[in-house]
Amino acid sequence: MMNKNNKISADCFYCNNSFSYEMPGQGTLVAEPAEPKPYLIECDVCHKKMIDVYCPKCGMGGLTVPEASGFSMGKIDDFSKRPTSWQCNNCKNSWPIPPETYDIDPILVRSDLKPEAIEKIKKTISEKGLTINKRGPKLWFLFLVNFVVTVINQTFGQIVFMLLIFWAYFGFLNKKTLFRVVLVSVLGVFLGLLVPFGVTKKSEVTTVPDELLEQSMPAEETPATETPVFELSKDDLVGVWQTSSVMAAGWADRYSFYPSGKFSFATSQMCCSCREKSKDGYWDFVGGELVLKTVKEIRLVGGTMKESAGSCGTEETLVGATLETEILETPEITKLSAVMCEKPEVDYYPCVNFENNDYYKFGDDPSDYGTFIEPEL
Ligand SMILES: [Zn+2]
Ligand SMILES: [Zn+2]
Repeated sequence: MMNKNNKISADCFYCNNSFSYEMPGQGTLVAEPAEPKPYLIECDVCHKKMIDVYCPKCGMGGLTVPEASGFSMGKIDDFSKRPTSWQCNNCKNSWPIPPETYDIDPILVRSDLKPEAIEKIKKTISEKGLTINKRGPKLWFLFLVNFVVTVINQTFGQIVFMLLIFWAYFGFLNKKTLFRVVLVSVLGVFLGLLVPFGVTKKSEVTTVPDELLEQSMPAEETPATETPVFELSKDDLVGVWQTSSVMAAGWADRYSFYPSGKFSFATSQMCCSCREKSKDGYWDFVGGELVLKTVKEIRLVGGTMKESAGSCGTEETLVGATLETEILETPEITKLSAVMCEKPEVDYYPCVNFENNDYYKFGDDPSDYGTFIEPEL
């Protein structure tokens, strides 16, 4: 990278040396960007040679060496073969290298590192030999970082993603590498977002102690005959009931009453700030009242509230929370009045008012909807 003083700062492709040097013929590069000539430089620590090149089409320059491939400014043949051109990694154009480039003494670049750091590099070289320092991101590592962080916390995942993109953008010269970095990062975030949904589905299926299986609705709560005063029968209630007559981006609050006697109440999918997700248990229709015996509650714990985006019906969205299933030691009995709706919004869905809330019947069989699974109690 070149700054205003025409001083070039770069890193050696071979050792970890950071150096800076001045352009030969100072000023010419800035004044006539179409004309700069490639020239040979030499690292003052490892004494490897590199060629400083400039692509007039892309308007940028950098170092290139045969071994650095994707992370250098361009592709070039082995210097011992005195290559007469190099190819820009960005635009794929080939640019000439004057033959005399190899005859002029290389510019010995000065290390910017502290003497201790230089000593350390020299020691590493003498112990392990000089291997090319393949700069740039390990793609699998970037993927993993994005993935893990997003699984832990969506918002934090997005911040890390943006930081990585900035880092990649300013840290690497060629578009191919940048593209790959963005691709693996996007993939990491995307899969990281998918995982919590998988976890959600899994934790809903909870094994319940045998004692609870035996506790269905106590027989004494069901009267021998139903009073004919009420128009509704128990059979009428079997099905899926939603507290809205229209289907929005997701389901609103809804009950599923199963013929087996189980019920499930799920909170609106558009409520992004709701902690209560569902209540499961047994239902009955007794004396004009809906009797619910809740034995299991699923709710979100922990997390923080963030401003909503997208299809949320709430201003805030709970993020980073985890699902918790609670088996109630003492089942919770709720009784709701249940009568035909007085003024239903639509007439094509049966409407029942449960304790002053109108619910519309979307289907007789909850299993017709993939999202409704009879709860395991
Ligand atoms: Zn070096
Ligand atoms: Zn180019």
